[in-house]
Amino acid sequence: MKIAVIKGDGIGPEVINQAIKVLDAVSGRFKCSFEYQEVLMGGRAIDETGVPLPTETIDICKKSDAVLLGAVGGPKWDSLAGNLRPEAGLLGIRKALDVFANLRPAMLFQQLRSASALKDEVLAEGLDIMVVRELTGGAYFGEKKRVRIENGIKAWDMMVYTSYEIERITRKAFEVARKRKNKVTIVDKANVLESSRLWREVTGEVSKDYADVEVVYMYVDNAAMQLVRNPGQFDVILTENLFGDILSDEASMLTGSLGMIPSASIGVSRVGIFEPIHGSAPDIAGKDVANPLAAILSCGMMLKYGFNMENEANAVVEAVNNVLDNGYRTIDIMQPGMTAVGTEKMGSLVAERVQT
Ligand code: NAD
Repeated sequence: MKIAVIKGDGIGPEVINQAIKVLDAVSGRFKCSFEYQEVLMGGRAIDETGVPLPTETIDICKKSDAVLLGAVGGPKWDSLAGNLRPEAGLLGIRKALDVFANLRPAMLFQQLRSASALKDEVLAEGLDIMVVRELTGGAYFGEKKRVRIENGIKAWDMMVYTSYEIERITRKAFEVARKRKNKVTIVDKANVLESSRLWREVTGEVSKDYADVEVVYMYVDNAAMQLVRNPGQFDVILTENLFGDILSDEASMLTGSLGMIPSASIGVSRVGIFEPIHGSAPDIAGKDVANPLAAILSCGMMLKYGFNMENEANAVVEAVNNVLDNGYRTIDIMQPGMTAVGTEKMGSLVAERVQT
């Protein structure tokens, strides 16, 4: 498998180096091989080439089987114009690879239960949710306008969806559910919004092809409430862009730590982007204290959803569990009585566990 690697800025290179260490351990144990090609994006690309997303990066990513990304950005580039900032690289690469589905898991490692904002009894059933958010449609991309009216200003953002856009992400969500617990909760506001009523029609039709997957419809206001009341009821949550933006943040923060959460963005082409949800954390960069587990778990998602390598993916998650079981913690997830380790050591511990 060819992997384009964008280490990025700040803690990006530190955590991605650990992720690669773990991938090498996977290839050692499972007799598969990964070829890495490092490409530039973000702040480092601006410094070395003058633009946040060089054409060469796009070409190499398109020719790869997956993109592994650290994080980009930092104060050094904050004063640049919007289209020249590191974040423009992120939007650009998502567009170039046409990724329309964002998969964001909210999985509570039992060892870190005390870090969750939720009460223990609410977590009794565990917390293992995958939010599948539509990324390229809805209110963020529909017509936006402002007009002056008699007594002020009127503004609108149109929430637009085509049946094609809904169908393709629905199929992705059902396929994801088949790799998990076979349940999809479709979140909308069909009692008020016409676009939500189209979502119901299209998802209803598509679901006929996935009779083995249980489907539940839920209004978004109820879903926001149920996530904190009874998160154990959810497996896959499928929703449109704006609702997904809000619910995926809510769901992931139920787990307590930014340094633990991976993500995947997948689309039409076979090349997905796999990255931790955290940023470049300039405040801790270069100090060997960043938690590399989100980047390592992003490789787990790459193996599972990008390469269909289920056993290899499970080995990564099991290794992370094992290291946590043995009491090792980076400082962001440190608890009394545990052993504090740095970024490098945490990566080596997980890699060792993968190999055994
Ligand atoms: P951030 O996620 O970088 O950091 C928020 C806080 O969490 C900081 O205190 C940081 O030290 C801590 N943190 C983050 N990741 C951690 C880890 N792995 N281990 C331990 N602690 C961790 O968010 P921010 O401070 O808002 O943004 C910093 C920069 O990152 C900005 O330039 C922003 O634009 C960029 N950013 C990039 C991405 C991306 O590349 N996908 C995403 C978000 C932010």
